[in-house]
Amino acid sequence: MNPVVVERPGTVKLAVLPPLALYVHIPWCVRKCPYCDFNSHERSGALPEDEYIQKLLLDLENLLPSVWGRRLTSVFIGGGTPSLFSPASIDALLSGVRARLTLEPGAEITLEANPGTVEAARFRGFRDAGVNRISIGVQSFDDRMLGKLGRIHSAGEARKAIDAALASFERVNVDLMYGLPGQDVSAAAADVESAIAAGAPHISAYQLTIEPNTVFFNKPPALPAHDACADMQVMIEQLLHKKDFEHYETSAFARPGQRCRHNLNYWEFGDYLGIGAGAHGKISLPGRITRHEQAKQPSAYLKGDPIREVEIPARQLPFEFMLNALRLVEGFPSTLFQERTGLPFTVIQQNLEKAEQEGLLERDLQRIRPSERGKRFLNDLLERFLP
Ligand code: SF4
Repeated sequence: MNPVVVERPGTVKLAVLPPLALYVHIPWCVRKCPYCDFNSHERSGALPEDEYIQKLLLDLENLLPSVWGRRLTSVFIGGGTPSLFSPASIDALLSGVRARLTLEPGAEITLEANPGTVEAARFRGFRDAGVNRISIGVQSFDDRMLGKLGRIHSAGEARKAIDAALASFERVNVDLMYGLPGQDVSAAAADVESAIAAGAPHISAYQLTIEPNTVFFNKPPALPAHDACADMQVMIEQLLHKKDFEHYETSAFARPGQRCRHNLNYWEFGDYLGIGAGAHGKISLPGRITRHEQAKQPSAYLKGDPIREVEIPARQLPFEFMLNALRLVEGFPSTLFQERTGLPFTVIQQNLEKAEQEGLLERDLQRIRPSERGKRFLNDLLERFLP
């Protein structure tokens, strides 16, 4: 493997700044799921909604000097379970965001919701607050699986939540998981078919992995073998392809016009402000690219622990870019590397050639994309770009 060599570390020259998005983290859930390694915390009692919204807006104000004059292309309110917040709180949040930053016309505004925490009136309230896309954490339509995953909802509640979301929103994502304890390929197919039948125009399918600091890490359930999971992945891709879903990112499938613009901005190495407990952001300035990070624990965050900001070393940028862009099934335009990292294309030329020779990558004059083999062995492909 050829390590990526950046001749003059610290030399980043960005001719244009990328699109700017906003991520808002709401860290509470009704119950912590045993597989979850997100920054999510079981709620105890009433949530400090007003206090938290005020703190989010204060964060935004603190970050404004680094993005003066720039417009937001999308907002994503994720968690945790943001649908635990009332529509009035989401309205206060989005009004506060608009008072501080201009949103592009038609900007995508997504809110994550979990079945069991939403009903039709609540969805209407979120829509009236300005949300125009909903992402629902369904995971499975099999009650037994939902029980094993420690989810608080049933398959019936998941279907009701999707119906209610589709009554208020044209753009709805359903999150599914596969490779679940005791699951086989036909059970995974049944979940995908249920999501299609429920009318979801966007489906995300993630393989269950066991992460450190989770209940499953200490008490691992028996998961399907690696080959069975690979078969499930192929089946999901084929099934959704047959139903006219475009597979546009490793785990994301969309009907035409339904691709998630906020996530596309991450994968295209765009910029984003991150506000809320544990949120991360990435901001490009003409001569450097920085990351910022907020205090993880909600209590420390609310107390006002300062935002940490670091510059991303230039030698790390090729890997960080590829980590995102190579998730895109159609790859990326060759010009995007220099545009987003501010580094000359020559710093990755050798590694690209090597990956191409190994059959992990395909290139033409316009685009660079992972090959079928590269998609299956994405980690091997990414290793080529480590600093
Ligand atoms: S609902 Fe989602 S964020 Fe909350 S604990 Fe479960 S997996 Fe994690």
